[in-house]
Amino acid sequence: MAYTITMIPGDGTGPELSDATMRVIDATGVKISWDIQHAGSDCLAKYGTTIPDATIESIKRNKVAIKGPITTPVGGGFRSVNVAIRKILDLYTCLRPCKSYAGVRSKYTNVDLVIVRENTEDLYAGIEFEHGKPETAKLIKSIHELTGSTIRPDSGISIKPISVFGSERIVRFAFEYARANKRKKVWAVHKANIQKFSDGLFLETARRVAKDYSDIEFDDRIVDNLCMQLVTRPEESDVLVLPNLYGDILSDLGAGLVGGLGVAPGANIGYNGMAVFEAIHGSAPKYTGQNKVNPTALILSGVLMLRHLGESEAAARLEKAVASVLQEGKAVTYDMKPRRDDPTAVGTSQMADAIIAKMKGK
Ligand code: NAD
Repeated sequence: MAYTITMIPGDGTGPELSDATMRVIDATGVKISWDIQHAGSDCLAKYGTTIPDATIESIKRNKVAIKGPITTPVGGGFRSVNVAIRKILDLYTCLRPCKSYAGVRSKYTNVDLVIVRENTEDLYAGIEFEHGKPETAKLIKSIHELTGSTIRPDSGISIKPISVFGSERIVRFAFEYARANKRKKVWAVHKANIQKFSDGLFLETARRVAKDYSDIEFDDRIVDNLCMQLVTRPEESDVLVLPNLYGDILSDLGAGLVGGLGVAPGANIGYNGMAVFEAIHGSAPKYTGQNKVNPTALILSGVLMLRHLGESEAAARLEKAVASVLQEGKAVTYDMKPRRDDPTAVGTSQMADAIIAKMKGK
C-alpha cells in the first residue's frame, strides 16, 4: 500500500534532518509519497502566518505527518508552531518512548519505558492571572468568599484544570498502546495526595478505566516518588501515563536516562489515527547547513510513524539498522563519539547512508 505523508521540514537543522529521515524511510521499501509543507517564521513573509492553512489541510487530509524542529523566536508574540499544531488538530497525546541503545553513552543500559503525556489540560491550559491586575484581585476575592482561603494580594495565579473527559481519553490511549505494543503494565502518575480534586480526579478516572483492561497490570505512583525510582531502578517502569506538567518534566528525565536529546523520538496523536511525529530536540540553529547534527531522534520518530501506519516489519528493520550503527559507533555524528571533537565523526547525511547500508545487509 502507498501512503501520502505530510512532511514539514522545519527550519534551522530541520531540513537536513528531514532529508536524512525521508531517505532512510524510503529505503525500507514502504511506498510513501511525501507531501512537503511548511511552517515557522519563514512562512510569515510569504503567507502572513507561521502555519499556512495548506499545511493544516495537508495534515488533516493525510492524517499522518512528520516534522523537523521549528525555531520559536523569543518574544515578539510569536506563537509556538508546535503548540498551535497540537491545539488545532486536538492531538491530545504526547508519546515519548525512552529506550536504551547500546553505543549511546548513558548511566543506564536497560531502560525501555514509554511516557504517555496528556497534551491539552493542566497548567498548560493557558489560563493565567497576572499579579496586580484587577481581574486577579477579583479572583482572589471570589476564592476567599467561596472557600475561606486567603491568597496573598500580590500573587500571580495559574489555573490547573483536569477533567474526567481529558483524563479518560489519555488513560485509554495508554492502555490501548500497551495492549497493541505488548507492554505489561501501566502506571498512572499523579500528586493526588495533595491535589485532591485535579490529580485526584485523574487517578480516580485511571482506576475506573483500568477495569476495562484486565489483561494489563495497573498501578499508580506519586510523581516525586517515581522520579526517585526512575533514577534508581528505571528498568521497573513500563508505560507511564501522566497529566501535562508531570509528563513534560518526566519526558526530559526519560530522555536523559537513555542518553539525551539526540536519540529521543516523539509523537503527538489525536483521534482517528491523526498523528504528527517529531524529535524532542529543537532546531539546533547554530549548526544550520553544516551537515553535523544527529538524525537518530527524527529517524526513530519515523520508526514510530511506520508502526503507527501498521508497517511493523519495516519499522523493526529500520530500528535494528539504527541500533546497529549506534552500537558500532563508527558512522555516527559528533555527539555520539566519546569526545565531541573526534575527527572520525560523520555528518547527518553519512549517518543516514550507514543506516541504509545496514538495512541492505552491508
Ligand atoms: P535544541 O534542542 O535545538 O538544542 C539544545 C542542544 O542540543 C544544543 O547544544 C544543540 O546543538 C544540541 N542538539 C539539538 N539537537 C541535536 C541533534 N539532533 N544532534 C546533535 N545535537 C543536537 O534546543 P534549544 O537550543 O533550546 O532550541 C533551539 C530552537 O528550537 C528554539 O527556538 C526552540 O524554541 C526550538 N525548539 C523546537 C522544538 C520543536 O520544533 N519540536 C522543540 C524544542 C525546541
